[in-house]
Amino acid sequence: MTVSSQLDYRPSVPARDIKFSAAELAAGPLPECQDVLSRPIPEAMRALVLLREDEQRMRSLPEEKLHGFATLHYRDIPVPRPGVGEVLVAVMAASLNYNTLWSARHEPMSPFRYLGQFAQLEAGNERHNIDYQVIGSDACGVVVSVGDGVNNCRPGDRVVVHPGVVNSQSPMAHLDSMRDEHTRAWGFETNFGALAEYCLVRASQIMPKPAHLSWEEAASMPLINSTVYRMLVSANGAAMRLGESVLVWGGVGGLGSLAIQYVLRGGGHPIAVVSSPAKADLARALGCSAVIDRSAEGYQFVKDDGEPNLRDMLRFRKKIRSLNGGRDPEIVFEHTGRETFGVSVFVAAHGGRVVTCGSTSGFNHTYDNRYLWMHVKSIIGSHGANWQEAWQANDLVCRGYIHPTVSAVYPLKETHIGIERMRSNSHVGKIAVLCQATQPGLGIEEPTARARIGEDRLMMFR
Ligand code: NAP
Repeated sequence: MTVSSQLDYRPSVPARDIKFSAAELAAGPLPECQDVLSRPIPEAMRALVLLREDEQRMRSLPEEKLHGFATLHYRDIPVPRPGVGEVLVAVMAASLNYNTLWSARHEPMSPFRYLGQFAQLEAGNERHNIDYQVIGSDACGVVVSVGDGVNNCRPGDRVVVHPGVVNSQSPMAHLDSMRDEHTRAWGFETNFGALAEYCLVRASQIMPKPAHLSWEEAASMPLINSTVYRMLVSANGAAMRLGESVLVWGGVGGLGSLAIQYVLRGGGHPIAVVSSPAKADLARALGCSAVIDRSAEGYQFVKDDGEPNLRDMLRFRKKIRSLNGGRDPEIVFEHTGRETFGVSVFVAAHGGRVVTCGSTSGFNHTYDNRYLWMHVKSIIGSHGANWQEAWQANDLVCRGYIHPTVSAVYPLKETHIGIERMRSNSHVGKIAVLCQATQPGLGIEEPTARARIGEDRLMMFR
């Protein structure tokens, strides 16, 4: 076996490509794949679903009843069959995203309204608009059946699923599918998502599974990895340049823990914001030397009456400068929303970019526009990623540049526990769910490549 070089995967060292040897790539078939392929595709499967009949009930539920459990149902439902251009994947593992939590809470609107809208977009979409929805936007598994016209994968392929559902006959989709109003988030705005034994996807969602990762590690990556890639690396996002500093909110959350890796790999300087000493230690273990514990500092950027708290904003800026050689961050990586957006605009460097993809603490943001226009800053809205961006991001995982940050794994039946951990912000990194995989740690096809990265690095968040 030939190894291209002595490799060091710590994120603070310059990136190097891994050349996997032929022997590593020819790793034998996985027993769990053989098992799935040897069984006939069943008529029914276990799945985590939302029910249309809950739609009315949700509107009258008090806040404390909204925490997911009342709306999540673990049921037997029919296994969908692939139509033209579609692929049926046996889901070995899935992972939770914030949109899983939004779905469970029927926010920002009823999931069944999304399904109704999707049904209007293209002929054939009507079958998504039924009385249940299988949610979940991240999956890793084995292709078991393909519809007519699919030529990029075949039964037996180990794959991860890109969550962008694109209408290939829409002209805008060919420039950048995320700018096309027809594009939808799989398992959030469409049906037959990841949290089931089988999922139904379009061929244009299929990407290769990183062979050195377990099912659940691979399943934790597609959505956040492609989102971060677009936000930071892509010309559609902040197009980060060598030497830039990036303020990363939620530095050891799902997005943040990958954002730190991207900034370090891209030759930048991340400044992570977290909310506990344990999270601060984890951010440092990722290679981020500049860490701010927002809880310890006691910041409150928006006063109780909704007005900005300039005193804490100035204090925060001073803290950032003290960790960043006196400089303001050229990029602010935003997804935290109402409670942080105003200060994000405030602290961004003159000419800097605030790139945002979400609003965890509230959708209605307030900021002082003088700090934006007088200092020629930009706000960049970013959502998901197009397939090309997702593919490049996935390739970085396959080649060992970017690593998963799974912290917990639950069986499908106990998904609600993971969702509650996301809601209460008591998790770090990603939470994975086992669907057909019988235990964590299966699915590794390249143990040698994995060993070169190191279990300590891959299991850092557990
Ligand atoms: P996550 O794993 O829960 O991480 C979010 C992090 O945000 C937490 O670790 C927390 O860190 C921080 N946070 C939460 N509330 C905060 C507050 N009030 N002030 C400051 N920090 C706060 O979630 P995620 O998967 O990274 O997703 C984050 C957001 O991005 C969600 O709103 C999600 O919907 C959105 N998102 C959008 C897209 C898209 O394509 N548009 C894709 C993925 C995610 P600390 O408590 O340690 O500070």
